[in-house]
Amino acid sequence: MPDLRVSGIVEESIVDGPGLRYVIFTQGCTRACPGCHNPQTHPLDGGTVMDTESIFRQFRENPLLAGMTFSGGEPFLQAKPLCALAEAVHGVGKNVMAYTGFTFEELLDKAQSEPDVARLLELVDTLVDGPYIEALRDLELKFRGSSNQRLLDREQRALLAARHAAAAPSA
Ligand code: SF4
Repeated sequence: MPDLRVSGIVEESIVDGPGLRYVIFTQGCTRACPGCHNPQTHPLDGGTVMDTESIFRQFRENPLLAGMTFSGGEPFLQAKPLCALAEAVHGVGKNVMAYTGFTFEELLDKAQSEPDVARLLELVDTLVDGPYIEALRDLELKFRGSSNQRLLDREQRALLAARHAAAAPSA
């Protein structure tokens, strides 16, 4: 399995998605949102390079986990190793959640030229999209920091993707 540049790992979390979760904070983000809670995750060459196989082995050791969450940093900058992890997680019947600073529609556009991004979008069960915006901070929101962020399941993403495709200028 491919390597992943990681800022940190929380082996058990109840705030980053449904149920008990194994959370990977990927290293590297280029968005520089004001008020970002994780500025140490921004340098693309920071963090630690880890082998995804050993990450998955550690995940498997805890039978209480409901799934794995990819947070950041920006997970979609490292779509390839995260696809490998997401496939392995699904393979043992657990679910995958991902946070991204991109909007879902921005990721759809990115997916046109980056097959790993397209594949990761297919593999993620629940996506929280959009950058954290300090002015829209809302502590009441489930699994999100600001009210612009959306909690999108597969069905909602299919609807948004159809709308995005219909709005795209025809070639
Ligand atoms: S996308 Fe996320 S990690 Fe990146 S700067 Fe914005 S809030 Fe921080």
